[in-house]
Amino acid sequence: NTPMPLSLQDEYIKKESLYGAKNYSPLSVVLNKGEGAYLWDVDGNKYLDMVSAYSAVSHGHSHPKLIEVIHEQSKKLSITSRAFYTEPFADFLEKLSNLSGFESVLTMNTGAEAVETAIKAARRWGYFSKGIPEDKAEIIVADGNFHGRTTTIVSFSTDDAYKKGFGPFTPGFDAANFCGSCECDSIEKCLSINTFEKKINKNTCAIIVEPIQGEAGIRVPREGWLKELRALCTEKNILLILDEIQSGLGRTGKLFAYEHENIKPDGLILGKALGGALLPISAFLSSKEIMNHFKPGSHGSTFGGNPLASKVASKALDLLFEEKLIENSKTMGDYFLSKLKDIDSKIIKEVRGKGLWIGMELNNAEVSAKNLCMMLLNEGLLCKETHETVIRFAPPLMIGKKDIDWALNKITKVITSIE
Ligand SMILES: *Cc1c(COP(=O)(O)O)cnc(C)c1O
Repeated sequence: NTPMPLSLQDEYIKKESLYGAKNYSPLSVVLNKGEGAYLWDVDGNKYLDMVSAYSAVSHGHSHPKLIEVIHEQSKKLSITSRAFYTEPFADFLEKLSNLSGFESVLTMNTGAEAVETAIKAARRWGYFSKGIPEDKAEIIVADGNFHGRTTTIVSFSTDDAYKKGFGPFTPGFDAANFCGSCECDSIEKCLSINTFEKKINKNTCAIIVEPIQGEAGIRVPREGWLKELRALCTEKNILLILDEIQSGLGRTGKLFAYEHENIKPDGLILGKALGGALLPISAFLSSKEIMNHFKPGSHGSTFGGNPLASKVASKALDLLFEEKLIENSKTMGDYFLSKLKDIDSKIIKEVRGKGLWIGMELNNAEVSAKNLCMMLLNEGLLCKETHETVIRFAPPLMIGKKDIDWALNKITKVITSIE
């Protein structure tokens, strides 16, 4: 009895589990190629990408124009550190500032670093502009938040999985109720804004929230919530900082999710799609008043704002408009959401979202979200659950209607098969 030889996929899965830390539990598929909205595994099977690396792949995989930019720039100049000025960096800063309407930009690499930058900026503003006594600044966040994985950021997470065993934690943070977690459904009865208001004191320098909570399961606050939070911050002289690392750059059908509420935050955090699905690059954007509290030597990053990433990010920003990715996110997102809502099944509790960013919540007695993802994988659809009961559908923003229809077909088929 000779044992069955391992398939190519099993071999890589085995190797990754053997040598890699187990801080993830990937679905059993080994990928080796991506193009547009598609991914291929090592056996040549083709899949539609409904995860998009959590919004990092908005432009689609291996975009030819971005490939050309990374190729040309990498032949010329890639990394210099910030000890010197470079053309691509200056051009990128100008582009992002003009496009966003924020006066000043500070670039980092990963999302978590840009969140850390926002925290530093808020604290300095608190001490140097608002006059909070040194080391007393407080920042209010929302329950269910996800802002990254550094020790300071997990300090203000409310999810045990992100923080258990990683203490001692950074002080100076407090979590209020994100809209919806207080179980009210109207402005009149809203307790969420109340809990934020109650937590504000003379040492509060900022409120940092996601306009829609992605990792928490695409939690969409009721209309008006963000506007009220904006008004509260203005009234109390505290900064409103929005983490749009996942929601920004067209994901919700607007360039920034806060545009749905016609407000402007004091600080904005971007990442993920900014790198055009090729490189990590992130940014904190704000006014000169806030940003000018950073002095030479006070903050930085070796790779932050490197010429290669700057050049790619500039092109990624251009392509959002040249290829109408934001409009496509809105039209395809509206269509996808309404069709998913039309699926009549008792295993679906709720479908919600904005743009091409949709969460389907299951009545988990029937099937877990992870099992459903496995069934969809077998149908050629790559999806990811968040928590036990929500499946997230977030394809690249360049996806076409034909692919959405194909996905809808498969999703309906799998859901009906469970019933
Ligand atoms: C992904 C994400 C982050 C963290 O970004 P990394 O690049 O993984 O560090 C922070 N905030 C939000 C809202 C995110 O979705």
